[in-house]
Amino acid sequence: MAQLSDDCFAFGGTLLSVDAALALVAERVTPVVGEETIALVEAAGRILANDLVAGMDVPPHANSAVDGYAIRHTDLLPDRDTVLPVAGRAAAGHPLGRKVEPGEAIRIFTGAPMPEGTDTVMMQEDCILADGKVTMKPGLRKGANRRHAGEDIEKGTTALTAGRRLRPADLGLAAALGHDRLTVFAPLRVALLSTGDEVREPGSPLPPGAIYDANRVMLASLLRGLGCRVSDLGIRPDREAALADTLTAAAKEHDLIVTSGGVSTGEEDHVRAAIERLGRLDFWRLAIKPGRPVALGHIKGVPLIGLPGNPVAAALTFAILGRPLILRLAGAREEMPATFRVRADFAYKKRAGRREYVRASLSRDGDAVVAHKYPKDGAGILSSIVRTDGFVIIDEAADGLQPGASVDFLPYAEIIG
Ligand code: AMP
Ligand code: MG
Repeated sequence: MAQLSDDCFAFGGTLLSVDAALALVAERVTPVVGEETIALVEAAGRILANDLVAGMDVPPHANSAVDGYAIRHTDLLPDRDTVLPVAGRAAAGHPLGRKVEPGEAIRIFTGAPMPEGTDTVMMQEDCILADGKVTMKPGLRKGANRRHAGEDIEKGTTALTAGRRLRPADLGLAAALGHDRLTVFAPLRVALLSTGDEVREPGSPLPPGAIYDANRVMLASLLRGLGCRVSDLGIRPDREAALADTLTAAAKEHDLIVTSGGVSTGEEDHVRAAIERLGRLDFWRLAIKPGRPVALGHIKGVPLIGLPGNPVAAALTFAILGRPLILRLAGAREEMPATFRVRADFAYKKRAGRREYVRASLSRDGDAVVAHKYPKDGAGILSSIVRTDGFVIIDEAADGLQPGASVDFLPYAEIIG
């Protein structure tokens, strides 16, 4: 298990492009968790720690893809029907057990091993059986309806790569290779807290001037979705000493601390002061809109991500920077989230130099998918995310777009679904 260096988040510049930020994460952040071997049935969503190299072929033997008759292709007459005696039977789990002689057809069922000597299977729908003989049409290609040994996974090849977040089909593949256990990274233990004297627990009375904590439940759910084990440290008041105690305690039993609020540059930003007293803090100002700086730091060797308090800013910065960083700490080698092209139905003006994430919903218009911009786009308007499907991304270089433009769309399902 590795430990990050205290200055791994050091960043001297003023504004950081998304690509540069992701490159820094890839370069400087390594997994901070150990490995464990667990039962295959428990492994969905976990992160594979080592490449899984196939110790066998899948399928292990050549077999029939259909119900029919296995033959030697050379026995088929090229220009008229062929009649062959049915000389045996092979079913799934019940191989024929002998070599097939020229001129024999073998009754065969899906999944049955190809009898030695045969190379082709004629589907039963294309045959006529009478008096123990099968009549077959001409024209079947050699090798038809036969599955090769190893055609799914060949022995010695890498079936699953280290760092992969295991999906149900991955578990199926590991099972097909005979594994009942997998070595995965231990879950990232994350301490999560909200800060702010005005922030209150939902379900409790709301005094004048207070608001309910929208961020914590959202972030807890996002973190769990990434496979983290989340400790809920609740809401902490804006008092440096109390925050310092909480952070010190949290650092003892966690691999990561995630906070929201209290880390901009105002004089009420006590999280920032507390962290700077205990460890090191750097601010990454991403060249994105909407955006706020993300605080990245260390408390006694444990990394900390300080997200902005505004819920939309918290969600977006989590999606763009927090998520890849957390996945990397957890051992994942995640591909970039998939975007696709859609048609914008709105005009948009922006300043060049920043990447803008426009909340939009999708609809169909014939063959086209059309993105509609949500009318309200304030950084505190969480309903704008609830009521839309994802972000239209307008790149740094662009200064806006016209209705009808083809644009990149990043679905929430890829990042904060
Ligand atoms: P801050 O980052 O602490 O300056 O907060 C920025 C804005 O986000 C303020 O309007 C806060 O009241 C609001 N805010 C902070 N934390 C939360 C939270 N957990 N849930 C909802 N709003 C929050
Ligand atoms: Mg605050």
